[in-house]
Amino acid sequence: MMNSLHEGAPTLIRREDYAAPAFLIDSVALTFDLDPAKTRVLNQMRVRRNPDVPAQALRLDGEDLNLARVLVNGAGTSFKLDGQQLVLENLPEGTEPFDLEIFTTCAPASNTQLMGLYVSQGTFFTQCEAEGFRRITYFLDRPDVMASYTVTLRADKATYPVLLSNGNLVEEGALEDGPNGPRHYAKWVDPHKKPCYLFALVAGQLVRREQKIIARNGQEHTLQIYVRAGDLDKTEHAMNSLMASIAWDEARFGLPLDLERFMIVATSDFNMGAMENKGLNIFNTKFVLANPATATDVDYANVESVVGHEYFHNWTGNRVTCRDWFQLSLKEGLTVFRDQEFSMDMVASASARAVKRIEDVRLLRTAQFAEDAGPMAHPIRPDQYQEINNFYTLTVYEKGAEVVRMMQTLVGRDGFARGMRLYFERHDGQAVTCDDFAQAIADANPDSHLALLLPQFKHWYSQAGTPRLHSQGEYDADAQTYTLTLSQSCPPSPGQPVKAPFVIPVAVGLLDAQGQDIPGTARTVVLSDTSASVVFEHVPSAPVPSILRGFSAPVVLQHAYTDAELLTLLAHDSDAFNRWEAGQRLALRLALAAIQADGDVPTEPLDSAYMDAMRAVLQAPQLDAAFKELVLTLPSETYIAEQLDMVDPQRIHAVREAMRLQLATALQTDWAHTFESHHDNGAYRPDPVSSGRRALVGLALHMLCLAARHSGDPVWPGKAYQRVKDAGNMTDRFQSLSALVSSGHELATAALERFHARFQREELVLDKWFALQAGAPDHGGHILPMVQQLLTHPDFHIKNPNRARSLIFSYCNANPGAFHRADGAGYTFWRDHVLAINAFNPQVAARLARALDRWRQLAEPYRSAACAAIEHVAAQPDLSNDVREVVTRALAD
Ligand code: ZN
Repeated sequence: MMNSLHEGAPTLIRREDYAAPAFLIDSVALTFDLDPAKTRVLNQMRVRRNPDVPAQALRLDGEDLNLARVLVNGAGTSFKLDGQQLVLENLPEGTEPFDLEIFTTCAPASNTQLMGLYVSQGTFFTQCEAEGFRRITYFLDRPDVMASYTVTLRADKATYPVLLSNGNLVEEGALEDGPNGPRHYAKWVDPHKKPCYLFALVAGQLVRREQKIIARNGQEHTLQIYVRAGDLDKTEHAMNSLMASIAWDEARFGLPLDLERFMIVATSDFNMGAMENKGLNIFNTKFVLANPATATDVDYANVESVVGHEYFHNWTGNRVTCRDWFQLSLKEGLTVFRDQEFSMDMVASASARAVKRIEDVRLLRTAQFAEDAGPMAHPIRPDQYQEINNFYTLTVYEKGAEVVRMMQTLVGRDGFARGMRLYFERHDGQAVTCDDFAQAIADANPDSHLALLLPQFKHWYSQAGTPRLHSQGEYDADAQTYTLTLSQSCPPSPGQPVKAPFVIPVAVGLLDAQGQDIPGTARTVVLSDTSASVVFEHVPSAPVPSILRGFSAPVVLQHAYTDAELLTLLAHDSDAFNRWEAGQRLALRLALAAIQADGDVPTEPLDSAYMDAMRAVLQAPQLDAAFKELVLTLPSETYIAEQLDMVDPQRIHAVREAMRLQLATALQTDWAHTFESHHDNGAYRPDPVSSGRRALVGLALHMLCLAARHSGDPVWPGKAYQRVKDAGNMTDRFQSLSALVSSGHELATAALERFHARFQREELVLDKWFALQAGAPDHGGHILPMVQQLLTHPDFHIKNPNRARSLIFSYCNANPGAFHRADGAGYTFWRDHVLAINAFNPQVAARLARALDRWRQLAEPYRSAACAAIEHVAAQPDLSNDVREVVTRALAD
């Protein structure tokens, strides 16, 4: 790890400095002798000078490698090492290809960063995106260098019976015995050229589920999912999701699977969710494994969307890749958009689609909006970075997806599909830029708002920050017209004090006083100036405007709705998103009033109009359970904090807890009825209707346990405990456990013990067990000591990213009421763990470091204590580039 520390001032990489590669690598043959302590890598490349670039030395990237030999056209050559780069100056002149052979070794067993080649539970895995390939061999480690790969894997047969790499298996067989007995090899050829970040190998003891499918064009494909022995019964859902993904991409975008063989492999040790390596996707077990006994409905939905996401990268990312890492959103924003659309198309009803949209927007607004308002704010196509790993962000992914979605809104669904076809016609097999993508969508739709406003639309790519959309309506009874005036502004971002106006598609419709849609008023207004007005004609009475339907743009809508208007929208809007949003606005308004009021936190912050509306939603027979659960869930503490200039996390926590308690007690009979009428014991199916019912039942049980904690009534906690013991699936079981833990009931301790004993051999369930405790509502500061205690639990392993996230991140990143302590002890805990993790896995440490991004917004005494903790981290001499960038930006003013 120390080798990845960069001495001296860290270098900023700038987008404007892009230069085409001086050399091209046409093909590469890699031979691995796999050994955990010392793996030998023979790298035989066919290289030539790029005729378009002036002659210069060849500089190959490398990191933590031991170099043994360099040959050019079979003969020794002079070379030097410059920092981590291998520099070759005396190469053949002219543009003829030459052979370059490099022999190195590396140490996978001691690779704790999980980048490059590493060992997880005795099995070899690779992770090369973004710059991990240079930890395997010297190479031009940049995405615009695309080569053909042939890979030979050699290893002990008993320990590593399965040998996988990208593409097709062309040869396998026995080798001479080694010191540990029989050895064997496998040779793989990838039929597609690719950048090195898509290289992968896996070697170990794995079992597989296999499925043959016939595509529309009659071609047969073999699909395989590789897991550890014992996990095979958790692969059915991932396989179904993969088959559905393949069918969807063909049906919606005409994009077929271009490989005979497509493999997914699961590993427990993974820095992120999953990786789209060509034909050999590697997944965090969390996003592959699911069965009813161990996975919740949320896990099932996540598996479907991540399997889809990685599969969709096969076209958006792999067939057409990024010119450089500044273009990351080219593949990630587009692929998130595609996986969101896939999940929506997989559900039958309009209301289930709306539920998915609400969930996606909730993530964007809580986490991405916060990122966009903080010190790490960056455009979806950043202009500079210190460490690319820090830019796999919610902005690049989720806001990037919103930008693609706006393009679809501006050109229509068919127009967008046409644009995608043009994009692939023009760029298949290339490494391109975000500009190329936007141009293709616009060119395929020459008369669209997108084409007409393209240069201005692209401000979404270059400007950070969340625009504010101000809206004001005026009804003219005599003229029967309604005038909606829209204007925009955007707060400054680091390095961007002033912004040019964005192109904002605003979907609107007008409701009459009874909440019915006024015919002919629904439309999409495209705001491109600083301000503009639209006039609606033939409006018979003063309307209620429903603005930004479906969340048609990633902006903050500021409209002075009256409570009565919001209640109308909540009760009637034909747009389910805005119906939900009206309820959130009402709750937020009440929360902010209670937070900003003088004196003690009111015991009943919610007013009767709100309570009545919530009761009506709970009782409404025509509403889906999933939708009810979303409406009855209060805005999160993080989202509430984002509305404030100065944040007192304890006050926010206290107010939200008071609101929860009020909802729990005042609606107790409704919650009880909801529980009784929605819970069932049928066979588990993860479809939207039954998962929605389970979600609502779970919320009801939480509420009932919360009310019981205060009334002392033992009935509902008793039921919850019983369900921890005998629920038929993990969703019901875990919700019941969570209801006891989050209500702070005394039965929680026994329930936690019982749950742990039952699932002690299920890693992913133990992750939930840790996360639940670290994320529970704080009562008088009890969470931190408990988290500290859990650090010493025999099942806690800090080097495993999933486990570290389940305990440490759940506390620091997902539990503001427990983390922000007046004594600053939460920040000391954060500081110590950022430094501890920094020493072995910088990428994960840097994510943890982001927990204090918004420290400047904190009130005292939190602000000073947080600042001191960040300064302490920043003062360490041996920080990774990753953590260094995060803390430096946090402290910059
Ligand atoms: Zn992705």
